Amino acid sequence: MAAEVYWADLRVAHGQGLLAKTEKLFVQARLREIVAPRDLVAFKIHFGERGNTGYIRPQYIRRLVNLVKSIGGKPFLTDANTLYVGSRANAVDHLQTAIENGFAYAVVDAPLIIADGLTGKDFINVPVQLKHFEEVKISSAVYHADALLVVSHFKGHEATGFGGALKNLGMGSGSRSGKQMMHSDILPEINQEKCMGCGRCRKWCPAGAIKVNRKIFKATIEAKKCIGCGECTVTCPEQAIAINWKTEPDIIQEKIVEYCSGILQNKPGKAGFINFVQNVSPECDCYGWTDASIVRDIGILASLDPVALDQACVDLVNKERGLPDSRLAASPEGEDKFKALWPAIDWQRQLKYGEEIGLGTRKYQLIRV
Ligand code: SF4
Ligand code: SF4
Repeated sequence: MAAEVYWADLRVAHGQGLLAKTEKLFVQARLREIVAPRDLVAFKIHFGERGNTGYIRPQYIRRLVNLVKSIGGKPFLTDANTLYVGSRANAVDHLQTAIENGFAYAVVDAPLIIADGLTGKDFINVPVQLKHFEEVKISSAVYHADALLVVSHFKGHEATGFGGALKNLGMGSGSRSGKQMMHSDILPEINQEKCMGCGRCRKWCPAGAIKVNRKIFKATIEAKKCIGCGECTVTCPEQAIAINWKTEPDIIQEKIVEYCSGILQNKPGKAGFINFVQNVSPECDCYGWTDASIVRDIGILASLDPVALDQACVDLVNKERGLPDSRLAASPEGEDKFKALWPAIDWQRQLKYGEEIGLGTRKYQLIRV
């Protein structure tokens, strides 16, 4: 059976803005039904890395927070610490960055709780018995919440082709060690010809896996220590470090989906999903920058089914033509935008596997709000 996916496009009537339309979307998509009075309601969001500008505007979150409060729920905003070294790798830096990016209490009207605690060690082992994991490490605040609203910025993603509800929920709610397990099949290599031995990658490596030979000015990665976080690949000024994507993108997507399964296990009928298909950047919000949107802003979509929701968002983006001055300026209508951005990644894997293990369906009915 097809799942219902609701779509609020960006047109508004005189006197009624997008914030009001977002409230209407929440109600029409039956997201009210996931919240009961006195429920602790986790808003799983991404606060954006320091310097990033693509994440969801906090004003939208405030409206959703107030809707949840009007039902009697107790909302809080949450995300887990990152594996890579950046501005969100521990709760102190994470909260500071979230506030700098506009998620202060005065703006969003809800407390922020870092889901896996001060240093990422606050998690619950949840049994799943799936292909890659027997158990997954779920951030405690997400696990213990009574209800879950997964609010995601939909965009391209360098590890999974695109990043939507499944990516935000699965990777984003894993503890730091859980993230390590999801990433651990991806091992980068250093191109010795391109490497200048500057040592920047060594400074950012969280696992101490990189050595720089100061005599010949070349860096090498110790495979045994490498946790596959990919941090070095984005810090190298010479682009000397490329991740070996041969089979790994499929595996990381399946692992993310297995984490989703573990998270949703104790929340039957208590999880809803909203995707903001705006500022569709080529890469995720974990970077300290946001490149130009690849297609025009499409709107805000919501569903009780994360697989159907992500599928609908992919389809809407792929129908568009690439925007001038973006990385996909020459891309015609109908071209697979995420394949064009990340040719080595089959982004469909996360949706197919999500369907296979019962997280949802790729068949959907799109309903305009
Ligand atoms: S060498 Fe491995 S652990 Fe170190 S930054 Fe690169 S991917 Fe991460
Ligand atoms: S950052 Fe790049 S150039 Fe610098 S040492 Fe690492 S691999 Fe070599």
